[in-house]
Amino acid sequence: MSAEVLAQIAKEVAVCTKCELCKGRTKAVPGEGSANATVMFIGEAPGYHEDQQGRPFIGPSGQLLDRMFKALKMTRQDVYIGNVVKCRPPQNRDPKPEEIEACKPYLDRQIAAINPRVIVTLGRFSMARWWPGGRISQLHGQAKTEGGRIIMPMFHPAAALRDQERTYQMFREDAFTIPALIEKSEEIARTELWGFVPAEPEIIEPEKTIPVEKVKVTPAKAEKPVRVKAAAVAPPEIKVAEEMAEYQPTPVMEETAPVLAVTTEEVPEIVQVENKEENAVKAARPRKKKEDVKSIAEQLTMF
Ligand code: SF4
Repeated sequence: MSAEVLAQIAKEVAVCTKCELCKGRTKAVPGEGSANATVMFIGEAPGYHEDQQGRPFIGPSGQLLDRMFKALKMTRQDVYIGNVVKCRPPQNRDPKPEEIEACKPYLDRQIAAINPRVIVTLGRFSMARWWPGGRISQLHGQAKTEGGRIIMPMFHPAAALRDQERTYQMFREDAFTIPALIEKSEEIARTELWGFVPAEPEIIEPEKTIPVEKVKVTPAKAEKPVRVKAAAVAPPEIKVAEEMAEYQPTPVMEETAPVLAVTTEEVPEIVQVENKEENAVKAARPRKKKEDVKSIAEQLTMF
């Protein structure tokens, strides 16, 4: 039944004209994967390669995701991968709020049909759905439960590829927590079977996380707060870590880094301060020359 619903959504997306992104698309990218996936990954928007083939995450970002899946003993067929908007924005620009809003019903229906136990958001736009106004640099890797489902924000793979000294390392660390989140989601499912639904929202803090600013925690009905400790899955993660360490990603510039989906009207003071900080960091960080990036991107295609 879920598969039929997803197929129907894909049909509607292919001919959708609800926002201006339909004008420039080659192919719409509804998403793909298992209709019964335990984990759903939600990115930002299709890029060039995705637009050409109508499939999500098949460019350099997708290659990083594939290597992550392999390291975690997962495949694309085990999960579902989608985006907040299904058509490519011109020149890979950020999707506009009205475009995200126009496309939201499709994503809503996909989530309802798949009913994943774990949702991993990739980048700031998909994160904003569950953490409006939140900063990914502070919230990445910190999971919460909502409606019995675990939501965990991660950096977008494109951002990880652009900055492998810092962002990639955080991307990788967050990826290592996914098996523990799946395990935790199964525990929640078992609890629901016995008629008890945990209070929410509930924060699940991987042991490795050094939270800069925690998400607001509402006291749970459960006596003990649920915490996922990396140590609880030490054997498989250690093995995974070794395998991940065998490869090193290379930065590319083809895909646009997602930008916080919040307007200055909504939180003017915070945004202004944050922009100052970010500009200072950006100014201090040396930019890669375009030729260098092109060269690295060419090397990446040799995988
Ligand atoms: S991005 Fe979404 S709402 Fe806009 S045209 Fe494509 S499918 Fe329709």
